[in-house]
Amino acid sequence: MNTLKYFSHPKFAMPNIFPTMPNQSLIIETDRGLFCPAGDFYIDAWKSVPRNIVTHAHSDHARRGSDRYLTASDGVNILRHRMGRDAVIDPIPYGQIIELNGVRVSLHPAGHVLGSSQIRIESAGEIWVISGDYKRQADPTCRAFEPVRCHTLITECTFGLPIFRWIDSSVVAADINAWWAGNQAVGRTSILLAYSLGKAQRVLAGLDANLGPILLHGAVHAITEAYRGSGIELPPAGYASVENAKLHRGKAMVIAPPSAMNSTWARKFAPFSSGVASGWMQVRGFRRRRGADRGFVLSDHVDFPALLETIEQTEADHIIATHGYTDALVKLMRERGKQSSALQTRFGGDEEESEETVETPVVEGEA
Ligand SMILES: [Zn+2]
Ligand SMILES: [Zn+2]
Repeated sequence: MNTLKYFSHPKFAMPNIFPTMPNQSLIIETDRGLFCPAGDFYIDAWKSVPRNIVTHAHSDHARRGSDRYLTASDGVNILRHRMGRDAVIDPIPYGQIIELNGVRVSLHPAGHVLGSSQIRIESAGEIWVISGDYKRQADPTCRAFEPVRCHTLITECTFGLPIFRWIDSSVVAADINAWWAGNQAVGRTSILLAYSLGKAQRVLAGLDANLGPILLHGAVHAITEAYRGSGIELPPAGYASVENAKLHRGKAMVIAPPSAMNSTWARKFAPFSSGVASGWMQVRGFRRRRGADRGFVLSDHVDFPALLETIEQTEADHIIATHGYTDALVKLMRERGKQSSALQTRFGGDEEESEETVETPVVEGEA
């Protein structure tokens, strides 16, 4: 560990003016990303660093250019796809403890996308957990979230307001299949917009392949192949080429990233009906803003009740909130007698997080 460099950095040379916040934090914020000074490693660094532990392969968490990456074995294929052939990636199985500079580090399933991890850090009896992005709903394409006991929890709160409560994923899957069948009945192709890493595969897993052919946009197809290569079983799906668009007109379900709707790409499927799968579909106006005919409320992030339940399960008495509605969560945690603060990170570029958050969102269906 480069103690001298760390403490001589002007940002960290200040005296501790908050006596309740220990100076010896296991994780601090730097201009390169979240850093563990004791272990001399970064987490989801946004610039090049020597040793980068990656919670998952979404582009706001996994960036190219670091010397070494450490990630959960389940996510190696996907991280390789994103970081390039030459990246040095050290896989470790969930739950296995490794020592970095005397700090004990282990990865635990986060249930967000395939290979996503929470990171547990233990030093001198102090335990911190960095949740990364996570959800508590069932998802056949990745391992379920496991609560990890800790003293300090750094949690995401992308959907950290009481209005965000997800309905059962199997109900959403049934709605999507019914919409697909309805579109077929009127001779329309279905185009379902879903983030290409994670959401698209989760949607694919819920489709009834007996209804008709399933086609994937190129970006979705490549990542789906990486999922299949990692042993995840998914319904058969073809490539959304011009030929397939013609061949299966009015019958196919096409899965594409939301950006595809802003291009000429979608025109080859006309006539079609479009849908969006996102947690933001619970908020009035977001579906129209995306220009889609149908919204399906399906998120890979934790909803509000599950966020609070998770915090309880970890037994943490220090809660650090990052991405989303951080101020609201910090206020609530302090009211509940916990130590709490917000941490500014540069996460938030995954499709669901990139929507601008609104002060008082109105839920669809409410007056
Ligand atoms: Zn993510
Ligand atoms: Zn994120």
